[in-house]
Amino acid sequence: MNKQKITIEKITSLCKRRGFVFPSSEIYGGFAAVYDYGPYGIELKNNLAREWWKHMVQMRADVVGLDSGIFMHPTTWKASGHVDGFDDPQIDCKDCKTRMRADHMLEVFGIDADKMSANEINAEIEKLKEKGKKLKCATCGKTNLTPAKNFSLMVKSNLGSPTDELSEENVVYLRPETCGGIYLNYKNILDSTRVKLPFGIAQTGKAFRNEIVARQFIFRTREFEQMEMQYFLRKSEMQEKYEEWKEARWNWYLEYGIKKENIKWYKHIKLAHYAAEAYDIEYNFEALGGFKEMEGIHQRGDWDLSQHQKFSGVKLEYLDQKTGEKFIPHIMETSVGLNRMFFAFLHEAYTEEEVDGATRVVLKFDRRLAPIKIAVFPLLKNKPELVKKAKEVFTDFSKKYMCEFDDNGNIGKRYRRQDEIGTPYCVTVDFDTIEKDNSVTVRDRDTMEQERVKIEELDDYFLEKFKI
Ligand code: ATP
Repeated sequence: MNKQKITIEKITSLCKRRGFVFPSSEIYGGFAAVYDYGPYGIELKNNLAREWWKHMVQMRADVVGLDSGIFMHPTTWKASGHVDGFDDPQIDCKDCKTRMRADHMLEVFGIDADKMSANEINAEIEKLKEKGKKLKCATCGKTNLTPAKNFSLMVKSNLGSPTDELSEENVVYLRPETCGGIYLNYKNILDSTRVKLPFGIAQTGKAFRNEIVARQFIFRTREFEQMEMQYFLRKSEMQEKYEEWKEARWNWYLEYGIKKENIKWYKHIKLAHYAAEAYDIEYNFEALGGFKEMEGIHQRGDWDLSQHQKFSGVKLEYLDQKTGEKFIPHIMETSVGLNRMFFAFLHEAYTEEEVDGATRVVLKFDRRLAPIKIAVFPLLKNKPELVKKAKEVFTDFSKKYMCEFDDNGNIGKRYRRQDEIGTPYCVTVDFDTIEKDNSVTVRDRDTMEQERVKIEELDDYFLEKFKI
């Protein structure tokens, strides 16, 4: 049994074929960089978000949750610097019109252009030219390119003024990250709950970015979901808490089945002016060519709250009850894209095995993440007594687990289908169930072993299997 090379074609084809992820608006010819999540996709996404929330909020005495609006007062994004500076440098091919990220194009020449402006990038391009090197279009390979220019990632809306042209005065933005809502509710949470420093506020939800290039399936899309936690603390506590959170997030991935060799730390060399330290957890997206950012764990200083205090005129200081001291808390954040995480877990679970001369594709998800926990089959579709019993088992267990009833095709086909969606257990009702022993066959996804279990013992059996 060996794990074969994972390609983007294999992943996207499985996602489409088995109802995980569909390209958006297909019947209208598609809509770039947006994806829809099908019946199994939504289950996996919900399971990931729930397990994240469990560790980030439920199991923490020092973190509370929030669900803020996607639309916010437009000044929010002036204060945060997004309106003036949330840009990516763009280069267009004048011949084939391909649009490219200029910073990514410079990477080929070993230049880290991550935080460079368009002007700085153009200066680098000039230096390359002097050395006889030229940037090439990623699609047609020609060198007839525009200079780099800044391209705002902010998505605008005309909310509230539908007939007007969008202008500086009436524009509202769809949030480009969820943490904006956390900063704006920091004071509400401080005033309405019993939180004391250090404490965190977590939220999950949609974010929107007008990405220049979005051709990597669900890795980079224009509409996506983020799961963020902002941790408010005293400056003196930063390093210790930062290390704790780095460890907590790293271990979370291992706990849910990511192999140690498939994640690594990336230390940011070029930091935002307010940041003292920033690391990303990168995942080995083999289908995209290697390690890429999955989650950021960043120190943010007191910049965010200071900016919002300045722009709103509302005091956002924290009063230390013991010392009487007032100050703006510092912040560290953990920030991950749910869709990118989904991709990573799907990638990790994807396995091809040789079984009896044929290839078996199986998604080896951790049981807690599997979209369907138990599939229930009658051995034969045209035997009403088997169907009736199998439906009874389904009705019973679907109160506790996400189950699926399937009477299509033969057992072999049903197993293959359940393997491809990662269902840990398949339960089959056969003639012996009815006529002899009131037992069913339970088949294990990973070992493919089958065992007979009495129906009255199934409850305990699955309790044990799904025990954490
Ligand atoms: P990148 O460098 O990949 O553009 P970023 O550094 O701008 O990402 P952050 O602003 O730090 O990303 O966002 C935090 C997390 O949100 C990222 O680690 C990623 O998981 C997710 N994310 C950001 N942009 C996208 C996107 N366009 N599509 C999907 N997920 C995204």
